Formats: sequence, structure tokens, C-alpha cells
Amino acid sequence: MKRFYILSIILLVILSLGFVTTDTEEATNAPKEWAIALHGGAGNYPVDASEERTKQYEEALAEALSIGSKILEEGGSALDAVEQTINYLENNELFNAGRGAVFTSEGKNELDAAIMDGSQMNAGAITGVTTVKNPISLARKVMEESTHVFFAAEGAEEFADQTTVERVDPEYFKVERRYEAWKRRNAGEGMLLEGSEDNSWKFGTVGCVALDKDGNLVAGTSTGGMTNKKFGRVGDVPIIGSGTYADDLVAVSATGWGEKIMLNVSAHTLASYMRFKEATLDESMDYLVNDVLNPKEAGFIAVDKDGNISMETNTGSMFRASADSDGNEVVAIYADE
Ligand code: ASP
Repeated sequence: MKRFYILSIILLVILSLGFVTTDTEEATNAPKEWAIALHGGAGNYPVDASEERTKQYEEALAEALSIGSKILEEGGSALDAVEQTINYLENNELFNAGRGAVFTSEGKNELDAAIMDGSQMNAGAITGVTTVKNPISLARKVMEESTHVFFAAEGAEEFADQTTVERVDPEYFKVERRYEAWKRRNAGEGMLLEGSEDNSWKFGTVGCVALDKDGNLVAGTSTGGMTNKKFGRVGDVPIIGSGTYADDLVAVSATGWGEKIMLNVSAHTLASYMRFKEATLDESMDYLVNDVLNPKEAGFIAVDKDGNISMETNTGSMFRASADSDGNEVVAIYADE
């Protein structure tokens, strides 16, 4: 009898543990109403960076996050959330997109951007623009107001002439501090993620992915490209499927060494792995970041149709932030945070 009693208690404990675990799992896995993630570039943010500088980045990431979160929370579209979050980051000279973009080997700022609406399987992209204040907004116009997907350089500027996007003098993008550092360095060669005395040069591309309450998934990315890029160099960012991609399962935005990201058609690789392997977002991200790409090459943010978020980099750091309808919020910089 005593044995039976003890066994019953053990059984009850096991069963209740089982219930607790199941409940927790259900709570965590329950689809979110909305979710958003953003990045401000991957690289190697110095471990000994000043507290003041780090605070500036953290505040900017938190502010950008609040812009997109508010839109989604109020029932706005993922497209608006992605565009407006990226607009803020483009206007903030801390990041390598819009104002504050890095310099080409000729000392110019040439901007790339792309946006993709996964629910429509439609996208817009531009490369090499020099007078468009917010390149992501022009990319959206390409998607919504043209019959094409991708415009380059003069063609992109000509298309911009036919839209209402804000234009600026190319000087607007030039941030003196960065320009002076670029001149001092005057490398002329080497689009490297590492090896410069000014670390801020190696990262700053911005991106955002979002799921709205209607279930739409959108990805957007905007960048000045890589420091010292040569004449007409196009990076991964505006290449649909490389640096930016969204479908009905997942939205992805990349940052890092564009050539490597492109060669692995990275964002689409993650989406395909998820679809054809029937893998989770975390499994797919792990495959891309650790099996497909090599260390120190790139980082990605992604959100899936259930509002799960993944933000991973194989570099030392990636400025990033995320939020969802369950009240989860993250602002982080170093890879191992
Ligand atoms: N991926 C961007 C490019 O190669 C650079 C970056 O993310 O920092 O243009």
C-alpha cells in the first residue's frame, strides 16, 4: 500500500511537470499578433568602446524600435513599420545608411536599398543613388509605382524625379567626422570588415523585418555599402534574395560582407531551408550563419509568420533590437549578448 502511495505521488509529480512544460511551451510558441526586428549593422564593435558611444547606439536602436512597434501595435502595416523604422536609422548619422553613409574609393556616398513584401511577393530595389534622402522610401516607390523591381544609378535618379521622394544635395550624406577619417586612412583598397582604426566604418547598414496583425511579412535594408567600394560596386543589400527577402513564411535582412552574402544568396537560403526542410526559424538561421557562411562574414535578422524572431551574427557584434506583441523587447550589440 505504502509502495502504491509513493508511486502515485511520483506519477502525479511527473504529470504535473509535464503540464507545466507544455503550458510554458504553448505560451512561448503561441503565434504573436505582431513582431519586429531591426539591425544597425554587423562588425566588431570594440569591447572597450566608451560608455557614452554605446549609449548613443542603444538609444538610437531603442528609438527606432519604438517607431516600428507603435505602428504595428496600432494595427498599421508591416510595410509602414519597416519603411519608417529604416527612415529613422537613415536619418541618424551613427549608421551607414542615408546620412552618415560610408565613402566610396572616390570619396562619394552611393546608396543602395531594397524592400520586399512577402504577402505580395513583390519587391523594389535601387542602387548607386546620390540625391535621395531616404533610399528605402524610393525602393518602396519602385515596388508600388513601377512595373519594374530594380533601378540603378542614373536610372534610379530618373525614376526618383517622377516621385515625391525627398531629394538632397549629395553633400548632405557626407558626415565630416567620417570623411576626415576616410581621408586620413586614404586606403583606396580593401573593402574589409576588419582592420581599420575607425571601427565605426565597418558596420552601420540598417535593416528591419516585421510581421503585422494581418499576417504580412516585410523585409527592408538600406546601406552606403562598404567603405572604399569601387566604381559601380553593387552589394548584397538591393539584390533580392541576397541581403533582403520576404515570402509568406519569413522575412530576412542581412548585414556584413556583401560579396559573401551575395555568393550564398543568403536571405533566400534561409527562407528555402525553412520551407523545404520544414525547419524552425532558429534552425534555419543557425544553418545560414554557421554552416553556409564563414566566421566574421555576416549577421542577419529574421521574423517568421508566427512572430518568432531570430537575430544572429558570426561577427563580434551586430547592433540590433526586437519587440513583439507579447511584450518581449531586446536591444543588444555584442554577438554573445
Ligand atoms: N552588406 C553591406 C554591403 O556589402 C555592408 C554592411 O552590411 O555593412 O554593401
